[in-house]
Amino acid sequence: MKEHTKCYLCDAETEKVSLLISEKLLHKTASKVYCLDCLADYLGMTVEELFEKWSELTMQKHN
Ligand SMILES: [Zn+2]
Repeated sequence: MKEHTKCYLCDAETEKVSLLISEKLLHKTASKVYCLDCLADYLGMTVEELFEKWSELTMQKHN
């Protein structure tokens, strides 16, 4: 069984972390998978900001 590992937009291989980030930031268990670059672009931020946002959300999850 092959996993969803290709970016929906650019067909790049995605890393597991980008799946985790999409789930967190897009609030859906994605039928679409984005690589970090496309995800950042989609959300209008840089990849760096994406990671910051993600770690904020991860740390705040008990609030
Ligand atoms: Zn992509």
